[in-house]
Amino acid sequence: VSAPKSAAIVTVGSELTEGLRVDTNTAEIARDIQHRGFRVVEAVSVGDDVAGLALVLERLTRVHALVVTTGGLGPTHDDVTREAAAMALGIGVAPDPSLIEFLTPFLARHSDPDAAEQVLTQALVLSGAEVLAPTTGTAAGQVAATPAGVLVLLPGPPREMRPMLASWLSRLPSVRATALDLGVTGLPESDVQLSAQRGLLGHNGVGLTVLARPGDVRVLLLDEGAGESGLASAATSVAAEVGSACYATGGETLAETVVRAAAAAGLTVAAAESCTGGMVCTAITDVAGASSVLLGGVVAYANTAKIDLLAVPPGLLAQFGAVSEQTACAMAQGARDSFGADIAVSTTGVAGPGGGTADKPVGLVWFAVATAHGTHATVRQISSADRSAVRSRATAVALDLLRREILGV
Ligand code: AMP
Ligand code: MG
Repeated sequence: VSAPKSAAIVTVGSELTEGLRVDTNTAEIARDIQHRGFRVVEAVSVGDDVAGLALVLERLTRVHALVVTTGGLGPTHDDVTREAAAMALGIGVAPDPSLIEFLTPFLARHSDPDAAEQVLTQALVLSGAEVLAPTTGTAAGQVAATPAGVLVLLPGPPREMRPMLASWLSRLPSVRATALDLGVTGLPESDVQLSAQRGLLGHNGVGLTVLARPGDVRVLLLDEGAGESGLASAATSVAAEVGSACYATGGETLAETVVRAAAAAGLTVAAAESCTGGMVCTAITDVAGASSVLLGGVVAYANTAKIDLLAVPPGLLAQFGAVSEQTACAMAQGARDSFGADIAVSTTGVAGPGGGTADKPVGLVWFAVATAHGTHATVRQISSADRSAVRSRATAVALDLLRREILGV
């Protein structure tokens, strides 16, 4: 493959620079243009300021083969991308007859004549530029020639930006296979990276990126010449090297893997959650098709809830405490019985930051899995003082216990 061409992404909008909205367009565009042979070298957000934006575009369009902007193509006074692009390229703008025709039906919605005039600013097209017709919304995109390549102007709202970008990209040849995304849970990031590197020995033209989140490590295999079949064979080797901690090779989440595996095995699941507070069920119900496997869950936070809703014996709680092997097992059994599920998982732990003791420190979490064959408990000492990370990692452990129980790995 030839070397990637350099690209820059400019997201326009004061809502982005002032922290009122999070820029998601950059990540999507950067990911999608890779397959067409571009690599993003710079990405910036600029407020709704025509001179500032013109300055940025003037430089980037001289340096990069592709510059993509999003935002600022609407009809209001703060939509300045067309004008800034014209300034940057030293060209004019003129109304496009087909866009005027497209926009005319929208004029009737406005009683204020100034509003009607504003709507028509969306018909202004850079001289010599190609129009990208809107599929949703009223803002058209544009493709203009620049000193170093092309400038593509796209609307800001992601649901308008996405189809327009896809339709423009579809005309360019695909030069790289889609990266393969492997999911690994229960191993430290550096162990995963070393295993992945061992798995890649002898595989040429495969780039490796390892991304860690609490309880989850993603291994991305990038096409740097290997092509689709080369990537697939590299993924098989990496998965074998990582072992049973690798739960997916096609980008699936851990919860998706659980739902697919349970559905394939015809098994139903339930959960009894204390410290994860419903996060296990949330993760499962995030997956379309969860209804075929998840019967339900109980968030039993207080001891009284564990007793009343999950039939955990009060004496057991008094003797061993809520965060214990015995309570975890009783919770899982209680959930399995009350929902009539094939498999139930439970979580009970010290999420922190307070509440830790010498023998039950913050991050100590007990889990249990109950099946027709019995109940077994697992303990983890999660080494994080961050409550949200403890809960996220505990959720991943619970999902992984379900996966391992379903698949027998
Ligand atoms: P605009 O095209 O400037 O009218 O953008 C309108 C709306 O699109 C904004 O209010 C945001 O909600 C959304 N938006 C704009 N830029 C982005 C971006 N980079 N990432 C995500 N949403 C965006
Ligand atoms: Mg805007």
